[in-house]
Amino acid sequence: MPHKLKTHTQLQYEKHKKVYANTSNKFYQTREWKDFRKFFLSMNPLCQICKEANRIVPATDVHHVGGRTPSNGLDSSICQSLCHSCHSRITATEMQRG
Ligand SMILES: [Zn+2]
Repeated sequence: MPHKLKTHTQLQYEKHKKVYANTSNKFYQTREWKDFRKFFLSMNPLCQICKEANRIVPATDVHHVGGRTPSNGLDSSICQSLCHSCHSRITATEMQRG
């Protein structure tokens, strides 16, 4: 059976996921992150991208605008509340941009 060809975006995303899992997974298990995320979502309960498009969608994810680094993980000024579909899309887009 022939393999289904993957799109460029999917490949980029999978590459990202791999890097992410290797380097960042521990961060997302920390008490600090979980508390920060809960607090951030309580302050920003709606997806900010959907809100700009006049859609009211509850946020489920906290996104680090421009990517997370070891020093900005808990920096609310670079974080954005997003729904899961916006988060997946924006992550794939940022990976393409490099
Ligand atoms: Zn959204």
